[in-house]
Amino acid sequence: MNERYSRQVLFPGIGKEGQAKISSKHVLIIGAGALGSGNAEILTRAGVGRLTIIDRDYVEASNLQRQQLYTEEDVAEKLPKAAAAEKRLKAINAAVEVRAIIGDATPELLEELVTGVDVMIDATDNFETRMAMNDAAQKYNVPWIYGACVGSFGMSFSIIPGKTPCLNCLLRTIPLQGMTCDTGGIISPTVQMVVSHQAAEALKMLVEDWQAVRTSFVSFDLWRNQYTSMKMTKAKFAGCLSCGEERTYPYLDHKNMTKTTVLCGRDTVQIRPSTAAEISLERLAGQLSTLGYNVKGNPYLLSVEMENERMVIFQDGRALIHGTKDLTHAKTVYQRILG
Ligand SMILES: [Zn+2]
Repeated sequence: MNERYSRQVLFPGIGKEGQAKISSKHVLIIGAGALGSGNAEILTRAGVGRLTIIDRDYVEASNLQRQQLYTEEDVAEKLPKAAAAEKRLKAINAAVEVRAIIGDATPELLEELVTGVDVMIDATDNFETRMAMNDAAQKYNVPWIYGACVGSFGMSFSIIPGKTPCLNCLLRTIPLQGMTCDTGGIISPTVQMVVSHQAAEALKMLVEDWQAVRTSFVSFDLWRNQYTSMKMTKAKFAGCLSCGEERTYPYLDHKNMTKTTVLCGRDTVQIRPSTAAEISLERLAGQLSTLGYNVKGNPYLLSVEMENERMVIFQDGRALIHGTKDLTHAKTVYQRILG
């Protein structure tokens, strides 16, 4: 057994056998923001076999206060979070097979990615993706760990298909929709506390210590010094469309996918083309420069300065339009550049 994991192997809950299990497993992390960075670093250091991480955004200065994988250099280079995360995680532990995906975690892509995954971790900032994760987890029988935070308030819950209630069941008792937008700001300790809860649960699942997995819904407020743990055994709903007897997995339905989204807590709209396209960024940069636009970029994305907005275009045709929350206006700007 590798010396680098000796302290973890000494821990009775893991041991040599647990370490061997950890190194043979595959974790999927949805989102590479604050929660994604923290979880990815812990699991990479813990020596997970494979780690797949997906994110649609790129690194900005306001991320550095809490998104621990990123540096000022990543901000200067406007690196996509997934690419920057991959670089850092590989430097931390070269033995982990890290795969980073720059893109939107659409239901279609989630269904593809979740196959063969042992544990999935929620590190998204939006409700739509969480619900799609929840359906994918139920459909493909993958345990996952919900986590969310805002300000000094955080919460987490472990979901095991066929055993615990699912996120869709919980919605009947807990108003989780309000917990998706970080408009109220956030302090880094809140992130770390949710990450600690999620990563500990992930380790229990990876070593298959199912008895140890928490069955209650945990929430806390680090500023007000409040900690609560709610029993959720009765929350499982037989008529649930995601985990019940007559399940339809409504959030995996493509018709329910939005193509235009206002990004959480930001003056930014994301536009995703209806069919994924591979764009030649180099050619597009040339065309736009000829038209007089100020264009900057790296191998993953282009940033185009316009009079009132700034547009960032990714290889898959997806774009972030900064400087507006107006969906219709954002579409107009998008079409002006990409037709
Ligand atoms: Zn359910």
